[in-house]
Amino acid sequence: MGWQKIEQDMLNVEIISHKMGILGANCYLVMDSLNQVAAVIDPVDKADKIFAQAENLGVTIKMIINTHGHWDHIGANQTLQELCGAPVYMHEAEKQKLQDGTLNGFFERRGNNLFCGYDKIYLKDGDKLTLGSLELQVIHTPGHSPGGLCLLVGNVIFTGDTLFEGSIGRTDFPGGDYDTLIKSIKNKLLPLPDELMILPGHGMDSNLGREKAHNPYLRNL
Ligand SMILES: [Zn+2]
Ligand SMILES: [Zn+2]
Repeated sequence: MGWQKIEQDMLNVEIISHKMGILGANCYLVMDSLNQVAAVIDPVDKADKIFAQAENLGVTIKMIINTHGHWDHIGANQTLQELCGAPVYMHEAEKQKLQDGTLNGFFERRGNNLFCGYDKIYLKDGDKLTLGSLELQVIHTPGHSPGGLCLLVGNVIFTGDTLFEGSIGRTDFPGGDYDTLIKSIKNKLLPLPDELMILPGHGMDSNLGREKAHNPYLRNL
């Protein structure tokens, strides 16, 4: 599989993705090609691969961002941070999950506690992060996880495990809640433009208009 280029129409932005880990979560590298800076969204696994890819493309990783604190999205936080020195960003409601392997699922699967980075910056709804000439807007979308977030970058939104192509995130993990997730999608995502490209935490990309029409969870909202 390897790295895949995401075809999108913004100038000076390049996005590539790589499926990683046993659940095949999507790790994204978002680059401002004008300033040669990048953000890694959900460093699932294989920090060395992510770092090498950024080096090959001549971009410097300035941010590591977690859409939420589940083990299948945060596995390479620490090792990637050791390689690139960038801070780890996540929603403030994921604080506990990032510090406790029994809450993020890591302990259950690997038998140890995952250390999730040294330098952390906690986000809240409406925060705007600057990556070179790009603005990354934080949209808090709890439901799959209390601190789940989506990141809006121009014509693209990274939806983590909130919204997938044809589905939505599970709500049976600790802190998950179906009604909260539906409310997040209805109030925070559906008002956005139909042309908006969706880059989810698992599976294929899509756009909001297509999901409004075909996603069974969204049809009656
Ligand atoms: Zn998750
Ligand atoms: Zn996931």
